[in-house]
Amino acid sequence: MSELGALYREVILDHSKRPRNFQIPDPSDREVVGHNPLCGDRLRLGLVMDGDIIRDIGFRGNGCAISLAAASTMTEAVKGRSRAEAAQLFDSFHAMVDGTTGQPADVERLGKLAAFAGVTEFPMRIKCATLCWHTLKAALSGEATQITTE
Ligand code: ZN
Repeated sequence: MSELGALYREVILDHSKRPRNFQIPDPSDREVVGHNPLCGDRLRLGLVMDGDIIRDIGFRGNGCAISLAAASTMTEAVKGRSRAEAAQLFDSFHAMVDGTTGQPADVERLGKLAAFAGVTEFPMRIKCATLCWHTLKAALSGEATQITTE
């Protein structure tokens, strides 16, 4: 395995074992439950908004290592960001794990989130990695309190 691959694996292991922001802000403005029936991942995401800015974000849930690590790194990446910045990150992240754009991952923008680049080789895991992002999108739009990847 390449050095970068080993580093990425370490990030995923670390965040799956010790998820960051692993609590729902109390009170939160928005809460959405996301479910990935394909794998059994289930998480609840809570947001505190300050105008257009994600002031606080946290989650609880059960799932595979990829889904937990993805949610943990996502909360770190979007806390303090605007709605538009979070949407841009999701676009970059989705393009990377989906792998259909053929573009190399925008590592500079993605930072730690680039650790999930390897997911593109495991199509079954793509929904594990994107579940939290779809849940965040629903929470930001306020259109649903539950989402499923199927
Ligand atoms: Zn999963």
